[in-house]
Amino acid sequence: MKKDTILVSTGRSKKYTGPAVNPNVARASTIVFDSLAEMAQAGLDKSYQFNGDSQATEYYGRRGTSTTFALNDAMCQLENAAGSYVYSCGTAAITSSLLSFLNAGDHLLMVDSVYEPTRDFCDGALMRLGIEVSYYDPMAGLNIENLVQENTRVIFLESPGSLTMEVQDVPSIVEVAKRRGIVTMIDNTFASPFNFKPLDLGVDISIHSATKYLNGHSDVMLGVASANQACWPQLRDRSYELGQCASVDDIYTTLRGVRTLGVRMREHDRNAMVIARWLRQHELVDRLLHPAFESCPGHENFKRDFSGGNGLFSFVLKHSNRRAIASMVDNMHHFKIGFSWGGFESLILPVGSAPARRTVAPWALESRLVRLHIGLEDTQDLIDDLSAGLERFREAL
Ligand SMILES: *Cc1c(COP(=O)(O)O)cnc(C)c1O
Repeated sequence: MKKDTILVSTGRSKKYTGPAVNPNVARASTIVFDSLAEMAQAGLDKSYQFNGDSQATEYYGRRGTSTTFALNDAMCQLENAAGSYVYSCGTAAITSSLLSFLNAGDHLLMVDSVYEPTRDFCDGALMRLGIEVSYYDPMAGLNIENLVQENTRVIFLESPGSLTMEVQDVPSIVEVAKRRGIVTMIDNTFASPFNFKPLDLGVDISIHSATKYLNGHSDVMLGVASANQACWPQLRDRSYELGQCASVDDIYTTLRGVRTLGVRMREHDRNAMVIARWLRQHELVDRLLHPAFESCPGHENFKRDFSGGNGLFSFVLKHSNRRAIASMVDNMHHFKIGFSWGGFESLILPVGSAPARRTVAPWALESRLVRLHIGLEDTQDLIDDLSAGLERFREAL
């Protein structure tokens, strides 16, 4: 089956939908039984089955209901995974995955361009738990082997990196990790399962903030982690120990988002390419950090491993000051000022000095980096908005 067909059919088996087209929203804190024998059958003896198994059994809400299992099944199919676990947000999926595979005294190799809250977790909770963390250059590739220690248990990737968009050489890092018996995890939020399938390249766990493109409508927070056969039982059991679960209403909404993921991704990609080409020739723009352009570090990896882009990219201004940035951004019509991304709407985010904590690649772009999320609006309206914004910027410089 081709990927667009999978998006339409996945997670829609009769046991989830009944006679309807979509899965039922099964809201439940508990499942009740007619007899003790039936309850025992359902698996209170710990033989309960999660998703990925044909007889997913529901009996207590936190473990999920049929709606949860429908999304789990869908994510397994989309990521070619043995099992998937849903969390209340992407950050919970990331932190739970890391906690599932790290113990006191272990060492974690974390990519330096990682999403800021992931870094907060490493420098906070993981440090307090006695887990050693070192950050590596997103462009490390095979050289990551020089950073591997006796106690390195996990290498965490995020590609492209948050804000600066470096595309990692995933196969090279996986090669090193496999040789050294290290678990690999990737934050695959940018690509969504539509444009990049890390498990096919040997990554053990692929993690998504479903808050972004999977749901795609800026109205839900949700996270998912999908693991291969080797890592699934541990991810499942430890995530369960941590009490992780998610609302079935949010899960249902995300499943609905999955149906249009392909249509939206292609449109975001197409629109973003139009805007990026326009920005590239603008005299106030120094360079684009968009994976489809050569000026983006790791562009070659992007061409080799990804089947497409999306609406998210950054650009670097030639000059900047806070006043000029505010004058540009404060008066935009279509680009709203905001974090997050992956919805239908365009967003603009000037990046001040937030990534100053990066340790490998020093941050030299003070107030010159602007991240855009290109939504589904008409591209001419977006260009007019940016054009006027850059004019205000120039006047305020
Ligand atoms: C937004 C985001 C997250 C966190 O997801 P939440 O659902 O907001 O917790 C993680 N990684 C990346 C790359 C993100 O953009």
